[in-house]
Amino acid sequence: MLHRLLGLLGYDLAIDLGTANTLVSVVGEGLVVNEPSIVAVAEGTSRILSGGCAIGHLAKQMQGRTPQSIEVVRPLGDGVIRDFELCEAMLRYFMRKAHRPGLARPRVLVAVPGGITPVERRAVFNSTQRAGAREVLVVPEAKAAAIGSGLPIAEPVASMICDIGGGTTEVAVLSLGEIVASQSVRTAGDAMDRALVDYLRRHYNLRVGTSEAERLRIEIGSAYPLEQELVGEVRGVDAIGRLPRKATITSEEVRESLAEPLGRIVEAIKHTLDRCSTDLVSDLADNGLVLAGGGALLPGLDRWLSEQTGLPTRLCGDPLTAVARGTHVCLEHFDRWRGALRSGDEDL
Ligand code: ADP
Ligand code: MG
Repeated sequence: MLHRLLGLLGYDLAIDLGTANTLVSVVGEGLVVNEPSIVAVAEGTSRILSGGCAIGHLAKQMQGRTPQSIEVVRPLGDGVIRDFELCEAMLRYFMRKAHRPGLARPRVLVAVPGGITPVERRAVFNSTQRAGAREVLVVPEAKAAAIGSGLPIAEPVASMICDIGGGTTEVAVLSLGEIVASQSVRTAGDAMDRALVDYLRRHYNLRVGTSEAERLRIEIGSAYPLEQELVGEVRGVDAIGRLPRKATITSEEVRESLAEPLGRIVEAIKHTLDRCSTDLVSDLADNGLVLAGGGALLPGLDRWLSEQTGLPTRLCGDPLTAVARGTHVCLEHFDRWRGALRSGDEDL
């Protein structure tokens, strides 16, 4: 009885714990946190700077401009938790920003990558609970992205989603509320940036940081030839002379550098299709593939994937918030979506 009463007085938080960005929304209010998943620490330690507040936007401002004694790190990388302690501190910080005083502790739904191991899921569960959750539930990111994109996943027709984030790409085919086939690959925005860094070193003898590569990719990158090809400038350090140098690079070159990671995303889509029945695949020929996640904003990706896979492909509205919207919907209509969610410590 007391438990139920506390439940009534509590609030619900939906969390998209992404490798690049963390989004938190309060049910009944909307999005309250949308910040980079990064933390600034004293070098070689886990001590978070600015009295524990150098997290998210604040840490981002420090990135690339830090003295030797400061390290800006991402607690999540390639879709896995790289640093458990910092991940928990970050979650705690963001959950505190969403804290609603006077109410009981929140029920929290966290979207997690499909390829997460039981140990990692346990870590997310423990961290969220220690950060103040009353109850922790998890939902696969791909399912949340599909719901957030407005796909009719509860119906007896196949829907396909491809969520391209920073660390992982989550591909899934869903029908009747369940994931029928899925694949999670550790190739997404970060892998594109690493490929561009490699390209600049090989072709221009230029050493460039990944955030500079990301800037260039967002500025002139594309997956499909542009009507008007572009030129961009990149700043780095000469690999031989070790002095600062700039280079001018074309959008064709950036596209060439992205061919390999983009190829791996196509493979993940094809592999997922291979595991579906012909009935489902023929549904998809009509309903197509929907793209979500920040990585999906690469210009021409929809057109290119459509050519590569033979599926009509489109971007969902506001791809960066699709997972957050989906998790929010699950909590808002909890009774309807309860079956799609799992307790965070289930099967462990
Ligand atoms: P995650 O779920 O892993 O936190 P997000 O869905 O937030 O990832 O997407 C982050 C990725 O989106 C980054 O690799 C970033 O470079 C990329 N991104 C963000 N905006 C754009 C854009 N306008 N064009 C291309 N890529 C973008
Ligand atoms: Mg994501």
